[in-house]
Amino acid sequence: MSDPKKTLTLSTGAPVDNDLQSQTAGAMGPVLMQDTHLMEKLAHFDRERIPERVVHAKGAGASGYFEVTHDVTKFTRAAFLSQIGKKTEVFARFSTVGGEKGSADSERDPRGFAVKFYTEEGNYDFVGNNTPVFFIRDPLKFPDFIHTQKRNPVTNLKDPDMVWDFLSLTPESIHQVTVLFSDRGTPKGYRHINGYSGHTFMWYNQQGDYVWVKIHFKTDQKVQTLTRQEATKLAGEDSDHATRDLFDAIASGNPPSWTVFVQIMQPEDAPKYRFHPFDITKVWPHTDYPLIPVGRMVLDRNPQNYFADVEQAAFSPGHLVPGIAPSPDKMLQGRIFSYPDTHRHRLGTNYMLLPVNSAKAAPVNTGQRDGSMSFKGNSGGGPNYYPNTLGGPEPDPSVAPPQIKLEGWAGRHPYTFAQDDFVQAGELYRKVMTDTDRDHLIGNIVNHLSGAKRPIQLRQTALFFLADEDYGTRVAQGLKLDIAEVKKLANMSQEERVKATM
Ligand code: NDP
Repeated sequence: MSDPKKTLTLSTGAPVDNDLQSQTAGAMGPVLMQDTHLMEKLAHFDRERIPERVVHAKGAGASGYFEVTHDVTKFTRAAFLSQIGKKTEVFARFSTVGGEKGSADSERDPRGFAVKFYTEEGNYDFVGNNTPVFFIRDPLKFPDFIHTQKRNPVTNLKDPDMVWDFLSLTPESIHQVTVLFSDRGTPKGYRHINGYSGHTFMWYNQQGDYVWVKIHFKTDQKVQTLTRQEATKLAGEDSDHATRDLFDAIASGNPPSWTVFVQIMQPEDAPKYRFHPFDITKVWPHTDYPLIPVGRMVLDRNPQNYFADVEQAAFSPGHLVPGIAPSPDKMLQGRIFSYPDTHRHRLGTNYMLLPVNSAKAAPVNTGQRDGSMSFKGNSGGGPNYYPNTLGGPEPDPSVAPPQIKLEGWAGRHPYTFAQDDFVQAGELYRKVMTDTDRDHLIGNIVNHLSGAKRPIQLRQTALFFLADEDYGTRVAQGLKLDIAEVKKLANMSQEERVKATM
């Protein structure tokens, strides 16, 4: 008998006799349906594609570890953060957001920065971006926002009118727009980006004391970016450059790493802070809340198989472990629903049984059974209901997060607390950016916004002006807009501005 490891088989494991000629009725005849190998080969091939992610479709990933370098046990009881030197296996996936699976890695876009920690208390997912803020702060706007980043339903083309119409009608986007149109919107590669939770989370300790946190992964390779011209050139010459760069660095023994920090806000500060602490369009300035080191992530293993390890990876900001809980951030609450929902559509209801998504360091005992593609023994034969007297798994009340007081009138509430949509975008422009950064920012905006209709250009430029007069003036000059008209629009309320630019 031939070596079973080497013999080509059907999916049943039965050996295949020939992989070059289909069975036919004679040398000249048609193929026979009894050729199970041919039927199976074609049928499986026909089904190779699963739906691509609606957002974050193009990505690259790698495995590695996270190591605790500083004691944070007074803030969180999370077991994986319980001891200096403790290591936890991780899998990280980086991605662009709006482009399809075949789109160029160098496109102007935020970059997804997702990390799955396989902890002994279950999997914890950090599902961040390379930008610390976001375009919107209410999940009801998310599908609309993404539609503007995708293709026009008539032309099937990317459409600057759609992009800038929506952004100019959404003033809270100005901070993220300023980050995105700086050269940070075209990173040199995945090794050269920071990762930010953006959202605020709760950390709570063994005593049940809690704090609000924002999490930062700072690249040890230094932030490096491409100019618009370099990014455009790369899109033609090597549209997979970031995927290649990550894979090659790890394969050649040069594993990238990130230093992980948190910002900590005491709960009593939240209601009086000068910015809404749960508004994802705002950062917490470092002078108010300095970065506190926690640990280091190293990515030192490439995927064995891209589809199994990267395409099937499914993250959710709701995948948390004891010691980490959500905040009332509305976008976070929306994402906690939307991520698992899209995974159930994309991968199936049992997506958590796939190897990359399964807990590796914790036992999994759920009452979930059945559903399509239930493998791993369908979670066994024990009681699949609770309460029971037959030895089924029991909840552990000791892991419950501390209760927080939430009250109010049910309704659709706008953000009103500590609202100024423009101040942080202005700070970024004036205080953080260098002259070169500002030159590139203006050039990148003018290049893109020039594709939109004039009234939209005017409305959006008024928002840049509100962030910073020099910023708005330079964009207006680049677009050859009348500065007096931009100033007049900037002095109006958003409602009046919209009416004046219909
Ligand atoms: P700091 O001077 O303490 O920090 C500025 C931060 O800006 C640094 O983290 C730096 O990241 C980052 N940065 C530098 N260039 C850019 C760019 N082109 N786009 C986006 N971020 C950039 O200032 P503050 O904390 O007072 O914040 C001032 C502004 O900086 C904010 O309004 C916000 O726009 C931006 N920012 C703030 C962050 C925060 O968490 N406080 C995080 C990121 C940005 P690095 O050191 O890694 O280069």
